[in-house]
Formats: sequence, structure tokens, C-alpha cells
Amino acid sequence: MNHRRLNGLREFLPRSRADALLVSGLANIRYLTGFTGSSALLLVSDHDAVLFTDRRYEVQAAQEVQGAAVTVARGPLLTALIGSLKRRCLRRLGFERGRASYELYEALRSRLEGCRLRPVAGTVEQLRAIKDAGEIEFIRRAVELNSAVFEKCLGRIRAGRTEADLASAIDHTMRLMGGEKPAFETIVAAGPRSALPHARPSLNLLRKNEFILVDQGVILRGYSSDMTRTMALGDPGRKGRRVYQAVLEAQMAAISQVRPGVTAEQVDRQARKVFRKHGLEKAFVHSTGHGVGLEIHEAPRLGRREKTKLEAGMVVTIEPGAYLEGFGGVRIEDMVLVTERGCEVLTPTPKDLRVL
Ligand code: ZN
Ligand code: ZN
Repeated sequence: MNHRRLNGLREFLPRSRADALLVSGLANIRYLTGFTGSSALLLVSDHDAVLFTDRRYEVQAAQEVQGAAVTVARGPLLTALIGSLKRRCLRRLGFERGRASYELYEALRSRLEGCRLRPVAGTVEQLRAIKDAGEIEFIRRAVELNSAVFEKCLGRIRAGRTEADLASAIDHTMRLMGGEKPAFETIVAAGPRSALPHARPSLNLLRKNEFILVDQGVILRGYSSDMTRTMALGDPGRKGRRVYQAVLEAQMAAISQVRPGVTAEQVDRQARKVFRKHGLEKAFVHSTGHGVGLEIHEAPRLGRREKTKLEAGMVVTIEPGAYLEGFGGVRIEDMVLVTERGCEVLTPTPKDLRVL
């Protein structure tokens, strides 16, 4: 499996005009080798791959790493890496411009004479955007677990409880039901606070006749899930219902666009078109969605001016929202798999307005 992924990366080497690529993003290293530790660098050339880690991970690396040799550094990782690079006498070394630290860059620049450094952007990320069958299976399970956790916690939504109470119940239930951890800080925002797209759960109380927005994701075997539902505790009023229906319409319209060959911006534009019809275009303040996999936000981004064409095997969220300051907000988010012919909505949780 990892040989295939490493070979996929090797095809990029000539295009990036590098003899080898130094991978420093941990999610990228995990994707290419299976290593899940928190300290590693990976050097990939056209004929071999070496993973550098430290002694804490000696046993784990031997168990996990596939497709690459492992070098366990006795001192600093960087020293071991530089020593190995010097012995190779590379002329052109690629590094991940968005992932390498300045410290790493400085060490390469000052200690590798005669070697040209080539900044490389998004190569492993491009490979990761298209999931293989095994990854899709992991994501499916993460999505199903996330929805099961959500259903289990619905009963905790009651007037007088705090946002923080509900958020911690969700996180706790994720662990109890076998999840690794939340994929991001769980969002619970009630009433006017639901108009903050990334609200932190607070001691604010859940109240009657207001919206409650819950955005949660769980990691299972390294893969993330991501779902938002907005519910009403009692009657959200005519305005609330109107906003909810507009968001739902925008979400379904965006999903209906998802298929191979369509650009990311086309999907985003479809959601904006619906909001414009309802006079809510200014209330939609973020992009329509993002890829999900080993990281909660990864390629492709579904937003304005994104020319990436969707391909079968991509997994993205579709999550339009409308946020009205002082009133509240609604977001509905599902995870969607791009298939050969169209798409499959992975999230099983219903999305008609739930009145609790
Ligand atoms: Zn989300
Ligand atoms: Zn999301």
C-alpha cells in the first residue's frame, strides 16, 4: 500500500526539479509510511525512502513503518538528517514549503553546501485528496460513529444546561464509543452565539425558542469526520424557520452539483446562488466546504476562485451557513464522497429542522 503511495510521490520529483523530497508534515509522513508518532522526517528519493525518528519511537517505528528504512537518531533529529544528506551528495533537494519549520530550512541552507533547495507545495496533499478504498472505509466508520454519538447526546439538550456541558458530553461519548479523540474542538453555540461560526462552548445557558448549533467530529483510526446540525429548542419563530429552510436549500443545491469534473468553485457558487435568492448572501461568511481525511481540513477547498476539479475518491464537506448578528445562525454540514457518476452523502443524520 505505502509503496504505491511513495511511488505516486516519486512521479512528482522530476516536475519539482528535485532529486529527493524531504517530507516534514506529520500527516503526510503518516500517509506515506503508516508512522503515527509525533517526531519524524521522511526523505524520499527515486530509489529509496528513509524515515528519521528518535529513540522514543524506536519500537513503534519498527512496527508501523512500511516502504521506508528507519533511522533512529541518537541525538537531535536534524543532525542525523543532515549527516545522511551530506553522504548522499544531493544536488537538488525539495522541501515542503508549507510544512517545514524555519529551523529546518535554516539548517538545510547553512549546512548543505552545493545543494539547491527547492520549495515544493502541496504534492503529498494532492495525492491525499483522492482516497483509496481502505481510506474511504475508515472515513465511513468515523462518520457513522460521529452520527451515533450525536444521537446519543441529543437527550442532553435541555433548557438550563450550558453549552460547555453539552460539548463535554459529546467529547466524553466519543471516547466511550471507541473514538480516538475529537477531530477539533467541539462547537456548541446557543441563541445569538450561534451567529459566531466558530464559537467556543461557554457557560451560556441553552434557552427555549432558540437555535442550538452543534459542530462535531471524531477521529477513528486516524481519519476524521465532521458534521454540523442546528436544532431548535422550542419554536425558533418564523424568521428562524425561514433562515433554516434557506440554508437547507443551499446545502442540497450544493450537494446536487458534486460530481467528477465539476470545479470546487462551481459547488460554492451554487450555495451562494440560493442565499442570494433569499437575500442572505451577506450572511454566508465562509466557504462551502473542505476535504477531510487524516486532517480535518485538507484539499480540496470548496470556495471562491478554487479551480480544482472534483475527482472520484475525494471526500468533502458541504456546509453552508447563514449568520445573523444578534439573532443567531444556522449551519448544516454533511460529508460527501465523490463517486464515478456523482456523489454519495456519507452522513446518515437527518437534516430537517429538529424541534426539541
Ligand atoms: Zn464542522
Ligand atoms: Zn467542516
